[in-house]
Amino acid sequence: MGLRIGSFLTSAREVPGRWSLVVFLKGCNFRCKHCYNWRLVTGNEKAEVSKEEVIYEVKNQPFLECVVVSGGEPTVSPLGELIDLICCIKEVRPDVKVRVDTNGSNPEAMKELKGLVDGFAVDIKSPLERPDLYRYTTGTDVDTEAIEESIRIADGMSLTIYRTPKYPWLEEGDMALIEGFTKGLRSPWLLNEFFEVPDCPFNRL
Ligand code: SF4
Repeated sequence: MGLRIGSFLTSAREVPGRWSLVVFLKGCNFRCKHCYNWRLVTGNEKAEVSKEEVIYEVKNQPFLECVVVSGGEPTVSPLGELIDLICCIKEVRPDVKVRVDTNGSNPEAMKELKGLVDGFAVDIKSPLERPDLYRYTTGTDVDTEAIEESIRIADGMSLTIYRTPKYPWLEEGDMALIEGFTKGLRSPWLLNEFFEVPDCPFNRL
């Protein structure tokens, strides 16, 4: 299966203050509670756009400063095709910065991407010391050492950020553990608002 692009949109919120084209790739290896993109993850979202349409937008929106490759989880896509997409973006617009948004589960892919992109947004969905809580949050057995490795790969790049939604089941002590860990990193950590997604089928996992 090739690169499956669900949709794209233009936003100035993803990278604050910079107009970005946000590209949503289908598929994800996690099943997070209240995932707002669950249709992209499960394949319920039937719509697809082509790589050529994305490249056309990048080329013809002169005010764009960034492209954010999001999802879903971009690193579950075939790596060669993901690299090809990023290279095409850089070819038509060498001035545009590229960020890949990831759940951090695939540090090997991130090593391959690092030389091509300007940073990553890496999710920290629970304290790394709490695989049980990571499992509860993501509905998946997560290798938290792999997440930490991903964070080390991304750290310090110009567009890298870390993000944690304010999940209501994360207690003060959990947030303190995440905050303590991120204090030792060079890139910023952001706490995002949590929004319920009542129809997300992963809520029951
Ligand atoms: S990592 Fe979680 S929140 Fe992100 S797309 Fe996958 S299931 Fe949804």
